[in-house]
Amino acid sequence: MNLPDGPRLVLATHNQGKLRELRELLRGQVPGLDVDTQVVDAGAVGAPDVAETGVTFAANSLLKAHAVAEATGLVSIADDSGLAVDVLGGAPGIFSARWSGRHGDDQANLDLLLAQLADIGDSHRGAAFVCAASLVVPATADSPGTEHVESAELRGRLLRAPRGGGGFGYDPILAPEGLDKSCAELSPAEKNAISHRGQAFRQLLPYITAALG
Ligand code: IMP
Repeated sequence: MNLPDGPRLVLATHNQGKLRELRELLRGQVPGLDVDTQVVDAGAVGAPDVAETGVTFAANSLLKAHAVAEATGLVSIADDSGLAVDVLGGAPGIFSARWSGRHGDDQANLDLLLAQLADIGDSHRGAAFVCAASLVVPATADSPGTEHVESAELRGRLLRAPRGGGGFGYDPILAPEGLDKSCAELSPAEKNAISHRGQAFRQLLPYITAALG
C-alpha cells in the first residue's frame, strides 16, 4: 500500500493541548499513520479560523470540521464544548468561553457564574461539561464526502469556590460525580479518562480509523 507522507488528519484548533491529546488517542491505532507528523493542527496547514456561528455544540463542531476539510482537502476533525448548568437551563452552553463578555477570560467567566449561583443550594448545583466532536471526510472525484458527530458529557456539581491549580476554564468549580475533587485537582490523564472531550473523541475513533485506513 502506498501511503502519503504529509499530513493526513487535521484537528480544527490552534490549541496544542488538544492536539497532544488527539495524537495520544490515535497512537498505534491506524496502520501506517505517523501521529507526530501526520496528525496536525489547523495552523500547520494554513487552515482559516472559523466563526462559531452555530447555536449548538454539534453545529459549531461541524462548521469547523467542514471549513478545514474544504480548505485543505484532508480528513478533518473538530470539537466544540462548554459547561451546561442545570438551573440555568443549559447556560452558559455555547457561550461558555465568553460568558462574562470577553472571549477567553476564564477567571471573569468563572467569577460571574459563581456570583449568579450564590443563592442556589447544594442539591441544585448539578452541571455538566458537554462536547460534540465531528469528523468530516471531504468529497473527491470518486466519492461523496461524509460527516459524523459524537457527543459526550462529564456530569458533576458546581462547588462554591474554586479548588485546584490544574486544568483551565471552569475546571476549578466542577466536581465530577462521585469525586470529592474539582476537575482542576485531577491529573491530565485522570481528567482525559472521564472528560466530555476524551469520551467524544474515543467514540469518534472507529470513524477516524475507517476514514484513514
Ligand atoms: P472550546 O470548545 O475548547 O472552545 O471551549 C469553550 C469553553 O468551554 C472554554 O473556554 C471553557 O470556558 C469551557 N470548557 C470547555 N471544556 C472545558 C473543560 O474541560 N474544562 C473547563 N472548561 C471547559
